[in-house]
Amino acid sequence: MTNESPMLDERAPGLASRLVTGALSDVELLAETARAPATALLPHAHVVKIGGQSMIDRGRRAVFPVLDEVRAALADNHLIIGTGAGTRARHAYSVGVDLGMPTGVLTTLGTGVALQNARILAFLLAQDGIPLVLPNEFGHLPLYLAERHAVIFPGMPPYTFWEHNPDVGQIPPHRTDTGCYLVAEVFGVASMIYVKDEDGLYTDDPKRNPAATFVPYITVDELLDSGIPDLVVERPVLEFMRRAVHVRRVQIVNGTVPGQLTRALAGEDVGTLVVA
Ligand code: ADP
Ligand code: MG
Repeated sequence: MTNESPMLDERAPGLASRLVTGALSDVELLAETARAPATALLPHAHVVKIGGQSMIDRGRRAVFPVLDEVRAALADNHLIIGTGAGTRARHAYSVGVDLGMPTGVLTTLGTGVALQNARILAFLLAQDGIPLVLPNEFGHLPLYLAERHAVIFPGMPPYTFWEHNPDVGQIPPHRTDTGCYLVAEVFGVASMIYVKDEDGLYTDDPKRNPAATFVPYITVDELLDSGIPDLVVERPVLEFMRRAVHVRRVQIVNGTVPGQLTRALAGEDVGTLVVA
């Protein structure tokens, strides 16, 4: 076999040809593929998730100020803005569950709601020329960022019927927190910022437990071991962070407090940092 990848061979002798002819179940061979330095595709962009239940469902009072911060950030930042799904997805899941729908079908329902929210935000930013980008159009994303400095996308990962069954129950395990995180990781962006309606992570859901205290910084392992009963981000985000090449920290900020998103985009440690 001719060696068509001399640069790869310089770092890992024989790897290029072994990748073509060897067994892809060979763990040593797989491990060597990590030796080529990873290329961050959009290292200056930020992925910003605007919460569904926590932000968009609250309507104008929550959404308009955050969009003002987005507009103000456009001069100096490239933003890839993902949407949550929220209460309408919960309702769709409840009807679907009652009718015995499988996880893959429930996923298509949640995906539709995240798309509704993406359409809403894209129309609200229509005068700013910010386009809606669907999963099969992600190839155009760099062009839109270069031209318009932002895009909106539906936060659900496009697994639809191919979504994996969860360990427990039927609800799609990879929802919009996860979809946004995966976009951040694949493009190797500067930061993954979740905009929700609490200052960040607490020791318990602050809406149910007034004694919960704020956690400004925590590692993924500490969080998974913490016994905190309900998390502010979906658990698969934490699991994917453990295997991340690029995005090894995520930030959760309060979108109902003016300025928190702006400060996070400026690199300030506002809100909660979760670090792998
Ligand atoms: P999104 O709108 O992005 O889907 P969610 O509603 O799923 O956001 O998650 C945010 C909510 O998570 C907060 O409104 C909060 O009530 C709840 N929550 C649950 N557990 C925690 C926790 N440990 N710390 C902070 N918030 C929590
Ligand atoms: Mg959620």
